[in-house]
Amino acid sequence: MLEQAQRVLKDIFGYDSFRGRQGAIIERVARGGDALVLMPTGGGKSLCFQVPALLRDGLAVVVSPLIALMDDQVATLEELGVAAAALNSTLSADEQRELAARIRRGEIKMLYLAPERLVQPRMLDFLRGLDIALFAIDEAHCVSQWGHDFRPEYLQLGQLAEQFPHVPRIALTATADKRTREEIVTRLHLQDAERFLSSFDRPNIFYRIVPKESPRKQLLAFLAERRSDAGIVYCLSRKKVDEVAAFLCENNFPALPYHAGLPAATRAANQKRFLNEEGLIMVATIAFGMGIDKPNVRFVAHMDLPKSLEAYYQETGRAGRDGLPADAWMAYGLQDVLMLKQMLQNSEGDERHKRLEHHKLDAMLALCEETRCRRQALLAYFDEDMPQPCGHCDNCVDGVQTWDATEPARQALSAIYRTGQRYGVGHLVDVLLGKDTEKVRSFGHDKLAVFGVGKGRSEGEWRSLYRQVVARGLADIDLEGYGGLRLSDSCRPLLRGEVTLALRKELKPQTSSTRGSGSASPASQLVRGEEREQWEALRTLRRNLAQEHAVPPYVIFPDSTLLEMLRSQPTSMAEMGRVSGVGARKLERYGEAFLQVLAGTGGGEAPREVADIRHELISLARAGMTPLQIAGQLQCSEKNVYSLLAEAIGQQQLSLEQALDLPEELMSEVQDAFLDGEGELPAVAEIAGQFAGRVPEGVLYCVRAALQSEFEV
Ligand code: ADP
Ligand code: ZN
Repeated sequence: MLEQAQRVLKDIFGYDSFRGRQGAIIERVARGGDALVLMPTGGGKSLCFQVPALLRDGLAVVVSPLIALMDDQVATLEELGVAAAALNSTLSADEQRELAARIRRGEIKMLYLAPERLVQPRMLDFLRGLDIALFAIDEAHCVSQWGHDFRPEYLQLGQLAEQFPHVPRIALTATADKRTREEIVTRLHLQDAERFLSSFDRPNIFYRIVPKESPRKQLLAFLAERRSDAGIVYCLSRKKVDEVAAFLCENNFPALPYHAGLPAATRAANQKRFLNEEGLIMVATIAFGMGIDKPNVRFVAHMDLPKSLEAYYQETGRAGRDGLPADAWMAYGLQDVLMLKQMLQNSEGDERHKRLEHHKLDAMLALCEETRCRRQALLAYFDEDMPQPCGHCDNCVDGVQTWDATEPARQALSAIYRTGQRYGVGHLVDVLLGKDTEKVRSFGHDKLAVFGVGKGRSEGEWRSLYRQVVARGLADIDLEGYGGLRLSDSCRPLLRGEVTLALRKELKPQTSSTRGSGSASPASQLVRGEEREQWEALRTLRRNLAQEHAVPPYVIFPDSTLLEMLRSQPTSMAEMGRVSGVGARKLERYGEAFLQVLAGTGGGEAPREVADIRHELISLARAGMTPLQIAGQLQCSEKNVYSLLAEAIGQQQLSLEQALDLPEELMSEVQDAFLDGEGELPAVAEIAGQFAGRVPEGVLYCVRAALQSEFEV
């Protein structure tokens, strides 16, 4: 049996060996046994039912909660030459009848369905008349009433056990906790299922958490090393999503917003672009995520603190499903904690529930201020023991220095106490530093013993100290008040001198270097400099093929396969067939084209593409055409031309003079407007008013890009 499975794996999917427990799971199900599979995202759950489906006679029925997930899997299977179909509401009545006829004729091997459709009596009757290979229940945690993905229709799937007693059933989920696991077993009647529990570690993800200083700058520094990578940036509020997306676009990072406040059509369009195009950044609230199967998300960045470790694990888990290096990066500050706690306080629900949520948030905070390996701490929270530090997180790589903060922490706590436990960090720090502000004087805080005792440390150090004191539960944020700090019971031993306190030493934030800002990590070196050109050529071919076949690029080949082509440089069809991810069907369809690109002879005649448009645009601009003329020539909007020009200027492929034809005086005026203020360049929106009606806004973007690239050098 295993041998046959191995052959299917190689011939159809193009992979050499099973990962983790895949082999055992496949054998169990192929022999007709039930299985419960708990595997992290990216672990390779799909193969666990797809391979047995191909080994057994009859139709395999796959239950999946979302149409997007179904379509993605069906497209992938079709590309592999497997007869798969999805039966859902997007099909017309005629199409549905035709599909049913094909199924009766045995022409379909795998059928994807939503749970509510499967349990319709007519559907069950239809299936009883057929030979069924297996039932696969994907995202099985949707049966759990405690999780936030609960789908009542899943509860009805339990009847499959009685109605199809001889058909094996396999339930799969990436949700790890014990309670959900037991619920799946009872509700789906899987008492006889063998359980396959994998480690929930995601070894290819590099974790980094940095204190928030100037979050946008920090984000840019992080992204600078990841140009042309796809990623997700999570923010807490819709407003912030819009702002950050606009900010990234202004800085020449192609970004799209996604949140529940956008029209459904915009959301769908942005999601589609994110899946189908490469190198886009999705700036989103947590509304974005469920059902995003894009395997080559290279990073997930959090601009705000998630509300629990469960959420953090799930959100960061969307990076690197393909197993290639990926980054989870987060900037967090005390303000986040205040916001989340306030949201919690104002939310519905009983006190017990709220207390539980507060505990979850505290666990999240503890990870931020963790002084040991982040991965060890994260897995420990999910009851998984990792004996050694991972060597692949910021704490392991940079090392964490701690210092004895016992005395200053007592001063900080005493400042809270002496001022009456009602002031925020800003004022408390002023008191410690002995600042002569109006607030300090009007409350008489300059008369307190703690006034000025903290002069030996900087404001930043005191803020960091307060953040850690809160993270460790020594002080609380008062939510009824205005976010002032209060002492909590657990600070007593420290105040009484019974214990000491060791805190993290902050690394000096330096936006330009790797430390602290957290920009460099192994994932940013996926492709080495000398490989870049060929890598881009492979990706261009893949993009063109994807467009031709109307599927996302990763359905043609995942990044890992392209990367292996790049590294192993096959020169014949036989060698190409040995590359992991190149199955028989794909070899036949695409092998030749990719060989040509590797030999440096192919890809030229491909349909026109964004990448090609960029090239053409640059040469047209250099040849002296105005943006309007270029827009006519390339048949795209003038606005698009300006944004591509700005991008090219930012990357110093074009000079400002080449791109724009503006009178000298007007040009200086625009430049001066940007340079007038101190510090950072103003955003285009800030000066757009001055030039309304005089120059197109696109000009402003170009000038800003030019100034910015000058500053960076
Ligand atoms: P999950 O559903 O568990 O998140 P997937 O089934 O989508 O994971 O698999 C993640 C990626 O790993 C896919 O690109 C898949 O093709 C690949 N993969 C799965 N199993 C193997 C294997 N044995 N060898 C190589 N690649 C694999
Ligand atoms: Zn580690």
